[in-house]
Amino acid sequence: MPSASDPSYVSWERDEARQFLILKLSDDLKAGTRYVLEMTYSAPMPNDMRGIYYSKYTSGGQTKYMLATQLAPTDARRAFPCFDEPALKATFNITLVRPDYLTSISNMPIVDSSSTFYENGITYVKDVYAKTRKMSTYLLAFVVSDFDYRSATSASDMIAIPDFAAGAMENWGLITYKQTSMLYKPGVSSQINKQRVAVVVSHELAHMWFGDLVTPAWWDDIWLNEGFASFVEYMGVDHVHPEWNLFDKFVVQDVQRAFAFDGRVTSHPIILELNTPDEINGAFDTISYSKGASVIRMMRHFLGEETFRNGITKYLKALAYDAAHHDRLWQTLIKQAEEDGKSHIDVKAIMDTWTQQMNYPVVTVSCDAQTPGYLSVKQERYLEDPTAVDPGTYASPFGRIEGECDNDVDYDDDGGGGGGGGDGRSFDGVCGSCGGSGGGDDDDDDDDDDDDDDYDDGDGDDYEEEEDYGGGNGGGGGGGDDDVGGCGGSDYDDDCDDDGDDDDLEEEEE
Ligand SMILES: [Zn+2]
Repeated sequence: MPSASDPSYVSWERDEARQFLILKLSDDLKAGTRYVLEMTYSAPMPNDMRGIYYSKYTSGGQTKYMLATQLAPTDARRAFPCFDEPALKATFNITLVRPDYLTSISNMPIVDSSSTFYENGITYVKDVYAKTRKMSTYLLAFVVSDFDYRSATSASDMIAIPDFAAGAMENWGLITYKQTSMLYKPGVSSQINKQRVAVVVSHELAHMWFGDLVTPAWWDDIWLNEGFASFVEYMGVDHVHPEWNLFDKFVVQDVQRAFAFDGRVTSHPIILELNTPDEINGAFDTISYSKGASVIRMMRHFLGEETFRNGITKYLKALAYDAAHHDRLWQTLIKQAEEDGKSHIDVKAIMDTWTQQMNYPVVTVSCDAQTPGYLSVKQERYLEDPTAVDPGTYASPFGRIEGECDNDVDYDDDGGGGGGGGDGRSFDGVCGSCGGSGGGDDDDDDDDDDDDDDYDDGDGDDYEEEEDYGGGNGGGGGGGDDDVGGCGGSDYDDDCDDDGDDDDLEEEEE
């Protein structure tokens, strides 16, 4: 109950850069005390595909209107006042008032529609929704339309919206899609459309765990959402359509795409400081999606399928309905590796170099005629244009030294490692003087490497297994740049696929 000693509202002001509404009170708030803030508010509803907006379409020669939402990443604040940050999870009670000839849907099922009222010739219905799970604001959603609505018996409803900015959005329990990302018609849609729909649906369903259940504490770790969803989308489709061999496309669609973007001095680390909504929106790019997915795939390889899967499962269970930081992921995987007898794999040491500095290394392995029995291993930072000048926006925290680093490896030692120290470890030590800028690539450990791609030849020749990175060396070096790099930074609204060619393949779903 409010008491006379409680602070009272005095005035408000806005912080435009940070999009904060600041409420001034008559007195300081006391830590540990529960306060109730009530406010009424209204906002315009434009057709700008952000916050709550209206969408327009034609049906039977008539123009029709519907209401939809897109609150990610920073537009829940446009819909209603809230602490609009991913770590500040809460439960939400939503009530939508609609004309009786329309339907409404939201994250949760409707529990009561019995209340109605009549105004200006229209009967309105109040749809009261069940309280949501504990969740982030950006995952709320609702749609009011004249669509026939079939209540899903599964965990999530799905709807295609005529005006939609991203490829799709993983709102918890109500996934929203651009029409081309969801609608498929046999005899009309192409096979590539079919795969595209399957991949996007799989991506969004992956987000039910990576993003909805476990959410990055801040947007600087958005790759924990988008990298994982972009990786798990392959697993989901591969499970349903193994004959598509979708994992064969991973290197082309994600690894090479990441190489093209990340081989430039204008790239950025996977994890980087983000403060303003503009910076946050800009982070939904090729680095978060494709490089994120590629380094996750690399982890799966060097940890082995069982260790990777068990570690990720524990990470999701431990942080359910909570917020995550990448260090927590490393800790969980390190512990799992120890339990599985792979204590030599220091996941954090490996992955920090891949996530906290931009670009990637090229490793060149060659035989040295002067010293038989030895391989010469050389590692250097790859740049598509070796003469490009790094603007220095993102200095490497690992003291990466520009130029080459050279060392010899006694490969005779490699075979006797007994699954522990020998295999692959020689690579880690090779470039110690270079600050370990690429030490993580010990893809050649002895784990059962039952990866679904066909690029690992499995012939036991460890030195051939650098395929991801050797591929980048060759592929990027040609300079035959496609439009992949140009899409970076605008993936969030997939502008780069507005070429009308219907291939949709360059789009990103959120
Ligand atoms: Zn996504």
